[in-house]
Amino acid sequence: MIAPQTIASVKERTDLVALIGETVRLVRKGRTFQGLCPFHKEKTPSFHVNPERGIYHCFGCKESGSAIDFLMKVEGMTFTEAVRSLAERAGIEVVDTATDAERREAIAARRARDDLYAINNLAATFFEQSMRGPSAHPLALYALHELHRRGLDPGPDAAGSVADALQAFRVGYAPPAWDGLVSFLKRQGVSPAAAEKVGLLVPRSSGTGYYDRFRHRLMFAVTDVQGRVIAFSGRSLAEPTAEELRSLGLSPQAGAEVPAKYVNSPESPIYTKGEHLFGLYQARHAIRQRGEALLVEGNFDVLSLHARGVDNVVAPLGTAFTAAQAKLLKRFTPTVTILFDGDAAGKKATWASRVPCKEGGLDARVGVLPPKADPDDFVRTRGVEALKSVTKSAKEMYEYLIENALENDAFNDASTNGKLSRIHAVAALLGEQQDPVKRLMLKTYADRMSSKLVMGGQSPVDLRQLEQLLEQATSRAPRQPLRAAETQVPHHQARSRARGDDIGLEIFGALIDFPVLFDDPEVMDALEALDGEIALSIATARQSLTMEMEILADEFLAQIPPSIHAFAAGRLASPVFETAEMAREELLKNAGKLKKLSLMRENAATADQLQRVASLGDVALEDALLLESAKRAKAKLRLA
Ligand SMILES: [Zn+2]
Repeated sequence: MIAPQTIASVKERTDLVALIGETVRLVRKGRTFQGLCPFHKEKTPSFHVNPERGIYHCFGCKESGSAIDFLMKVEGMTFTEAVRSLAERAGIEVVDTATDAERREAIAARRARDDLYAINNLAATFFEQSMRGPSAHPLALYALHELHRRGLDPGPDAAGSVADALQAFRVGYAPPAWDGLVSFLKRQGVSPAAAEKVGLLVPRSSGTGYYDRFRHRLMFAVTDVQGRVIAFSGRSLAEPTAEELRSLGLSPQAGAEVPAKYVNSPESPIYTKGEHLFGLYQARHAIRQRGEALLVEGNFDVLSLHARGVDNVVAPLGTAFTAAQAKLLKRFTPTVTILFDGDAAGKKATWASRVPCKEGGLDARVGVLPPKADPDDFVRTRGVEALKSVTKSAKEMYEYLIENALENDAFNDASTNGKLSRIHAVAALLGEQQDPVKRLMLKTYADRMSSKLVMGGQSPVDLRQLEQLLEQATSRAPRQPLRAAETQVPHHQARSRARGDDIGLEIFGALIDFPVLFDDPEVMDALEALDGEIALSIATARQSLTMEMEILADEFLAQIPPSIHAFAAGRLASPVFETAEMAREELLKNAGKLKKLSLMRENAATADQLQRVASLGDVALEDALLLESAKRAKAKLRLA
């Protein structure tokens, strides 16, 4: 723990105007200073800094705080990190209230981490120097060629922004030898075991010693939000010729496997996958200033856009976009525009990113690139203005997803089942909206998209009619309509089997609304009254819905038999019960009804048998059947 007196003197002795002035251009106005707010987008200054009070405040977005808050918000530091950084600036010794043992432990832990950052930093320097300058490696030509191919020439004639971007992302080259970095680190006095901890070196499987993980690759340094190098990402390059390798004393590997396109550092004490965003450190000021971030798929997209002046770009670093990354981004902006590749994988990744965006509280929009284009190709071939117009015309995420599911050509090309799953996916998307106004707006949107389609020669008026037309067109028995509430229960007893199915569906629906009911022993007992497809669907629901709530609704629906599919989709989209208790009560009531129905059916069967037995004149058998029937009647009374 940092002592309160340290915190007080840090606040007192920090030159707030100088500190904030590094990020914001401040102009003196009387006793205070004013500038454009770094926390929201504005054209006239409403951000005030008062050095006497040691406080800043924005009259536009209401952000305010001390020097410590400023570093935490702008640099993404923790409280302790911010205090330590300010203490260092002001030459204040940090007083720690921890016991000696605690302090020693904390210092040792911090030193161990600092050592790892330092090793990565050295490695980044090694990769940079291996690419350019007097100690560049002869095969670095391959890396330079890859950059050249993408219009990112680092040569002396390079546009300032390209050179700046390459430097900002610490782009470099990992030489092809197995021991390039090994010997460099040795010369720097770094122990190979420490370099192994951050995944730069790998222990040899035979004998002793280590080898370089990254060989003959274009290297990107991955930094945390404070700019510390925490990992690397290496892109494969064209293979050198056997001649080139031999001239360097390296033996060409005959029949070697095609290298992976990207190799990333493994997790380490300073790097956890899915928790960092590539480019966030370089983009953080631009993101804040523009009030928006662009999320792209690849490192090259980030570098390429950054070099061309689109500098509010980040990428999720070789994983799917995670909730942790969304929360990290939210510290800098509430708005993100997703600009993934125009191919099927990009669409799938866009679809999947709606869940983390929601969890991280990000307002997401989706920019659409032409099929087969990625942001890097697009900006190279079409220019920055074209890219900007794509991001400007980005659609609200759910509208984009609905449009994507009901898009004319893709919809018409899909199989019948494919069409149905598209409709059900849209129903599920609507169901994900908690805000009723937004849900209504999206439903209107989905209905409008549906009405643009033609099904069996007719144009549907809305999503629901689209589904009905599709069912008619495939001349299947009509299913349950989309909304459970509109299900009609037949009243006449002659259709008790059908009624039993309806009751079974209601039980299934209650479980979809509240999968937590699977944990209730009384509910589990009651479920034994079910059989057939409903029992199977309930077993599926138990497996998939209770495991993880973020499971994609369409994955669950894919396992549901066709006759129940629409009911399940409708129920996912529009739950009926408000509380688990209400769902439980109704479920148990329905289970009771189901038992009664099955008793009645058995009684009807017994009456048939009695008639036949009576004609045979077997009194003993007649008695046995009557007794059985009486037992059931009693059971029915208990249930009633
Ligand atoms: Zn503001």
